[in-house]
Amino acid sequence: MSETFRMEVATPERLLLAEDAQEAQIPAANGYLGILPGHAPLMAELGTGELSVKVHGRTLYLAVSGGWVEVLPDHVRVLATLAEAPSDIDLERAQAALRRAEERLKHPEPGVDVARALNALKRARARLDAASHK
Ligand code: ATP
Repeated sequence: MSETFRMEVATPERLLLAEDAQEAQIPAANGYLGILPGHAPLMAELGTGELSVKVHGRTLYLAVSGGWVEVLPDHVRVLATLAEAPSDIDLERAQAALRRAEERLKHPEPGVDVARALNALKRARARLDAASHK
């Protein structure tokens, strides 16, 4: 069996990654999917988090949020609503978004949409995690 699989990560606007990968960790909506070559076919909803891909022994990181993942034995396609490489990420903005979301969740004032704050918190954490490998 091949030691790699084709890995693509795209948003509707751009292709972020197309490489022969050795392994990948993908934040699906129900938890992390660990992918190696020859994985059983599946479709999953993409969650929010840090996606990592090992290419030629080096691990690449992206922050992703929402979308779909298609896994085939030799090919993985991630179509993400949002996907950012560490170089795209403004750390201070993500830190400010994290503080804002934490504050909203700790002291929810009338009119605060808790689900929205929780999603903002997850996006900020995903950005900070992915950017920590800059
Ligand atoms: P913020 O509250 O800082 O706007 P957010 O999570 O609400 O963060 P999104 O709605 O997810 O922001 O994204 C809006 C746009 O801003 C997207 O194009 C996204 O890529 C970009 N963006 C958001 N946060 C950052 C960041 N920290 N660094 C770079 N781009 C960002």
